[in-house]
Amino acid sequence: MRQVWNFSAGPAALPKAVLERAQAELLNWQGSSRSVMEQSHRSRSFIAMTEQVEADLRELLAIPPDYAVLFLQGGATQHFAQIPMNLASEGDSASYIISGHWSAKAAIEASPYVRVKLAASSRNDAYRRLPAFDSWAYDPDAVYVHYTTNETIHGVEYHAIPDVGEIPLVADMSSNILSGPLAVERFGLIYAGAQKNIGPSGVVLMIVRRDLLQCTVRPMARIFRYAAHVAASSMLNTPNVWGWYLTGLVFQWLKEQGGMRAMEQRNKAKAECLYAAIDGSGGYYQNRVDPASRSRMNVPFTLHDHALDADFLKEAELAGLMAIKGHKALGGMRASLYNAVPPEAVEALVSFMADFARRHG
Ligand code: PMP
Repeated sequence: MRQVWNFSAGPAALPKAVLERAQAELLNWQGSSRSVMEQSHRSRSFIAMTEQVEADLRELLAIPPDYAVLFLQGGATQHFAQIPMNLASEGDSASYIISGHWSAKAAIEASPYVRVKLAASSRNDAYRRLPAFDSWAYDPDAVYVHYTTNETIHGVEYHAIPDVGEIPLVADMSSNILSGPLAVERFGLIYAGAQKNIGPSGVVLMIVRRDLLQCTVRPMARIFRYAAHVAASSMLNTPNVWGWYLTGLVFQWLKEQGGMRAMEQRNKAKAECLYAAIDGSGGYYQNRVDPASRSRMNVPFTLHDHALDADFLKEAELAGLMAIKGHKALGGMRASLYNAVPPEAVEALVSFMADFARRHG
């Protein structure tokens, strides 16, 4: 099997060491002579595993005890709707910051359950510049303020945390959670689909301040109620056992890599390397995002001549550089540089880009 580097935006690359371990344990998990997928989630060994997964995450992100950790299903998309179902009563409003495709979608999906108020939008800037924190005109009576810390398609990322006073801050961190240290205590609720920096698709990680789930805001089946999931340790019904297990292997791998500070340094260096190659190409390659808003995780870029796109993609694949085609909404290219993408992958990409520019100049 040839060596390839996977720049997929999601489902994204998983650490090779994690896949190798999963492969080694596949037929005989913890000496049980069965795979982890074939065992009761109520078994002692599976419950012990989930406790370890949570403990590892709490250690990685220094999660305070007044926050619950949930391993849910439904993708981030389901929680666009389920969050207002749980946090808002009839007539309540919530403020949304629209900074790209995913935050716009979050606001639309929330609207049947809460009065969505637009606090800021960068739509008129084609989402190339994030709305500055001091421009956020959020409703002082909002039950929460929602924003997306990293826009996977538009390649913009907030590198600091806004201050919204006493209002709970709710953040979709699907595409940059675990890319560096996080001040969890600044948030009311954090959620993230797993398929970028956490594990395989089918798991949604949620970190939520327990007091926010205390009141019953509307009648709702238990399966939708986060408080019921907390009470049942994320086992209200059959969880995604395989996804939960792999997520745990990723957390162990992150600890072995040196934790969040080490990942942050590595991710920063990878992104700087790619942006430097783009900016230093004399316009051959372009990233039009305001430099202060640039994402370390998703780097969209275009070639100076779109007629070269097909050749670029074909030759990149031959060179083992996979999944670089941009999202259809933007066209061009996109390289996603999540935790599992090693620095060598980025080095291979930038040297291919320089070589391509020389040959097709
Ligand atoms: N939010 C962000 C930032 C995303 O990147 C994505 C998916 N790529 C979603 C939400 C939606 O996630 P899902 O497909 O798991 O529902």
